[in-house]
Amino acid sequence: MTVSWGLIGASTIARQFMIGAIRAQKDGEIAAVMSSSPERAATYASENRIPAAVSTLDALLKSDIDAVYISTTNELHLEQALAAIEAGKHVLCEKPLALTSADARKMVAAARAAGVVLGTNHHLRNAGSHRAMREAIAAGRIGRLIAARVFHSVYLPENLQGWRITRPDAGGGVVLDITVHDADTLRFVLGDDPVEISAFTQSAGMAAGGLEDGAMCLWRFASGVIAQSHEGFTTKFAGTGFEVHGSEGSLIAKNVMTQKPVGSVLLRTAQGEEELSFDREDLYARSLREFHAAIRGDGQPSATEDGVWSLTSAEAALQSARSGNAVAIDPKLGSAA
Ligand code: NDP
Repeated sequence: MTVSWGLIGASTIARQFMIGAIRAQKDGEIAAVMSSSPERAATYASENRIPAAVSTLDALLKSDIDAVYISTTNELHLEQALAAIEAGKHVLCEKPLALTSADARKMVAAARAAGVVLGTNHHLRNAGSHRAMREAIAAGRIGRLIAARVFHSVYLPENLQGWRITRPDAGGGVVLDITVHDADTLRFVLGDDPVEISAFTQSAGMAAGGLEDGAMCLWRFASGVIAQSHEGFTTKFAGTGFEVHGSEGSLIAKNVMTQKPVGSVLLRTAQGEEELSFDREDLYARSLREFHAAIRGDGQPSATEDGVWSLTSAEAALQSARSGNAVAIDPKLGSAA
């Protein structure tokens, strides 16, 4: 069975990664793209060899598609996902699932009730590097976990310096953009859930409208592990990384908070240092592969309702930054149950 996709949003991420990832599946095809502007839809369709261009959600959902990929600005995800679910389409939605965790839970509930697959496009858990770290931890190679550090402050490319740094109403700001990914990657690699967060945010000269373009968060996990993460749009020369430190060893990954299957993971123990090898499959292609399998009834998308956890964590980070206090993360809110 071929999975026929409709793209909701003539976006950069779809153009750069997701169109290729869908076409990399032997059972994947793109039938149509929807943009709010008919001209942009037509141009995007022709540039990306997509057969149909539409400018209303209704027209897209009435067409003969099985699934939608939502990559519009963040304030639109909720209503577009709910409409697609109501039309019986499977939904792969970009992060953050919505602007609030309450709305994200509505999406999860609607998908469950309709029996369609809902995935969150948290790409980093599809990276071979993060999977190798998770496996090494699960195999006990660094002993009892103690702490983690995430380095995910980048420079927002000029072509993306739009709604993310100017529009609070569209869900701009680095916390909804990057902290959500760090929340998900920490949960995935550590195999643990956050219970408390304390955050400082800043506006270091790029973001406007009261939005933050940098954040540093301190996390406490259910097991007692503590973590720190740094997210930013304004640091031109910082590398990315992810470290986990345990009683018997450390995992030190460099250049792994990225969209490409690159980077390195070093295991350091009393026995010395070992570079872990890991698969270099395209992160987004793997996400699509798992999503297609889930549609066939084989397993779950790589990130499902995890999108509720990541958004609940980001919300708590913003609340902490505003109030100056640490904020508890309620597992009942995070788990979407
Ligand atoms: P873009 O800014 O490229 O696209 C978002 C929307 O902006 C589009 O849907 C489009 O509206 C509109 N738009 C695009 N180009 C123009 C233009 N030239 N003039 C006017 N409007 C335009 O966003 P991104 O691709 O960076 O992000 C989209 C979503 O994907 C967000 O939710 C983001 O958080 C997420 N994302 C996820 C990543 C991941 O790795 N998981 C990475 C990057 C983004 P219309 O559709 O109506 O034409």
